[in-house]
Amino acid sequence: MSCPICGKPTAAEYRPFCSRRCADVDLGRWLTESYRIPAETDEPGEEDPDAEDPPPKAH
Ligand SMILES: [Zn+2]
Repeated sequence: MSCPICGKPTAAEYRPFCSRRCADVDLGRWLTESYRIPAETDEPGEEDPDAEDPPPKAH
């Protein structure tokens, strides 16, 4: 398996990517894609980065 971003061999730590950088690139693309898609509804309840999150609990 190779990195879908640059085609280099995948690193286990970052699979399916070869590096943190490529993982970030893919994440950026994914976010860009989602931002480009117009919301079909204005209903709240979707994952909202500005929403109040409960405080993290210890596992
Ligand atoms: Zn890569």
